[in-house]
Amino acid sequence: MFKLYYKHLYPSIIEWQDEPFAPWSFKEQVLSSVLPFFESTLLKEEFSLKKEIGCEIFMDSGAFTAASMGYELDPYEVAEMQALLKADLVVPVDKVVFREDSSRIVNQKIEDTISNTKILLDLKHKTSQVIGPLQGFTKEILEHSFNEFKKLGIQRFAISGLVFESEIKRNMERIALAREITKGYPLHIFSKFLHPELLKLIIDANTDSVDGYGYIIASLKGNYIFNGTYEPISDLTDDEIDLCSCSICQENSYENLSRVDKESQHLLIMHNIIALNNLKEELLKQKSNQH
Ligand SMILES: [Zn+2]
Repeated sequence: MFKLYYKHLYPSIIEWQDEPFAPWSFKEQVLSSVLPFFESTLLKEEFSLKKEIGCEIFMDSGAFTAASMGYELDPYEVAEMQALLKADLVVPVDKVVFREDSSRIVNQKIEDTISNTKILLDLKHKTSQVIGPLQGFTKEILEHSFNEFKKLGIQRFAISGLVFESEIKRNMERIALAREITKGYPLHIFSKFLHPELLKLIIDANTDSVDGYGYIIASLKGNYIFNGTYEPISDLTDDEIDLCSCSICQENSYENLSRVDKESQHLLIMHNIIALNNLKEELLKQKSNQH
C-alpha cells in the first residue's frame, strides 16, 4: 500500500518548539531528520519520539540539508543519534551526487555512502530498519549501489537528489530507472512529490512511498487544498469550506481557518493532511479499477 510520510519540521520552526511535540495528528507516517535533534535539549530528558508522535517514523540523516548548507555530517555522530531516536526506518549519511560530478567523484561518493551505511548498521537500534539511499543518474551507478546495499542485507531503498532537477520529466525518468532496478523491493521517493498535483505521477510509477513538507509551507502561507490543488483560503468562501467533510472544516468557521495566525495555520495543516490522504486513497482506487 502506497504511503505518504509527512515531514515533521520540529524543531526547525521556532514558533512550534513548545509542547506538544506534534501539534497536530499525523495518523499515518512521519519523516524527520536527525539534524534538528543535535541542537535540541529534548534528548537530555526522558523523551520518546515514538510516544510523542504515535505512528511509524522514518528518520533521515539530514545529509542533504547539511550538503546544501555547505557542510558535512559525521557518520558516527549521525548513527549514534539514530540509535538514540529509535526510529522505525533510518537513513545513513549519503553523499549527494550531482550531474556535473566526474566519474571519479561519483565513485568516491558512492563508496563513502556504502561505508557510512556499514557504520549505521553497526550502531543502530535493533528494531530500526536501514534504507539504502540510491544516488546517481546512470543505470550502472544506481545498479552498483543497489547491489552493494543488498550485500549488506538491506531490503528497502530510496531515490535521492530529485530536488536538484527542475524538470519533472527528468525526475520521472530517473524514478522509472530506480523502480526497474529495485523491482520487488520497497522504493521511497524523497522530496517534492507529496503535492496534490504530483501524487498521481509517483503512484502511477509504482513506487511505495513519498515524503514532503510542502503541506507545511503551503499552510503557513494560508493555502487550502480544494478540488485537488492548493488555493489561497482568502479566495474561497464559507460554503466552499463546508463542502469538505473533514472534522476540521466541519467544526470550524471560515474565520477560524482564514485568520493567518498560528492556530489557523495548524487547522490548515490538519485539513491539508486529511485532503492529501483522501486524494491518495482516491488515486489508488482509480488505479486498481484500471487493472
Ligand atoms: Zn477539510
